[in-house]
Amino acid sequence: MPELPEVETVRRTLEPVIGATITSVWDSGLGLHMNRKPPRRKLRALVGAKIAALRRIGKYLIVDTTAPQSIVAHLGMSGRLRIHDARDPRAPHTHAVFGLGARELRFVDPRRFGQIDVVTRGAERVHPSLAILGPDPLTEGIDAAAVSRLARRRKSSLKAFVLDQGVIAGVGNIYASEALWRAKLRPSKRANRTTVAQISSLVASIREVLERALVHNGTSLRDFVDADGESGDNAEYLWVYGRRGEPCCRCKAKIKRSVLQGRATYYCPTCQTP
Ligand SMILES: [Zn+2]
Repeated sequence: MPELPEVETVRRTLEPVIGATITSVWDSGLGLHMNRKPPRRKLRALVGAKIAALRRIGKYLIVDTTAPQSIVAHLGMSGRLRIHDARDPRAPHTHAVFGLGARELRFVDPRRFGQIDVVTRGAERVHPSLAILGPDPLTEGIDAAAVSRLARRRKSSLKAFVLDQGVIAGVGNIYASEALWRAKLRPSKRANRTTVAQISSLVASIREVLERALVHNGTSLRDFVDADGESGDNAEYLWVYGRRGEPCCRCKAKIKRSVLQGRATYYCPTCQTP
């Protein structure tokens, strides 16, 4: 599943469409995540508007237009948003197409866990999917003291706490393991047993692992590709994720894998304090 750095990589590779006029809108009529269909009438009302900016909140892409509305896109498990020549044949599982003159912005989503919607600009956070999100660690910054206050009330593992999109938006399974290793904190540690200093270190580590992944254009563990169809190469740079049995880069102890809430979790048993 694409996490924040992969979505940001897609956002950057879509930048060439800024300034283009939306000349047509098509949708497959099929439901995506939660069987929600792209809102055809609202999307068609955007024909004639120009794409003004591309933003991201957590794993959501926001396509601002010169109309008062913006398009919201979520890639779900397998979604792709790419620029094509309008003459290229459409791939199977294409669910939305924004005509941009000779080019098209196409949303392809085989598993249909993605989302295409329209929001009024400035009221994004009223949208049900965006209202529940915590701050974006790269664009909005995170107040470590506020996160520490939240942690004090949670008995869940620190890993589950970091994955909670209401705490910090956009961190998924890979970068949760990476950030906890960087901050030398055991993923199974209870969130309410952390100190303010530990949470500050964790918040800084989250930022660091996300920025580091961005430099490498995201992690391509299965089939992530950016809007140009290029895969990222961050998998080579991961410290613990997917490295069971390999030596820890800090202390040389063997990396362990455990399962927390059904998700694979990787950690160093020596330098990540329980
Ligand atoms: Zn170690």
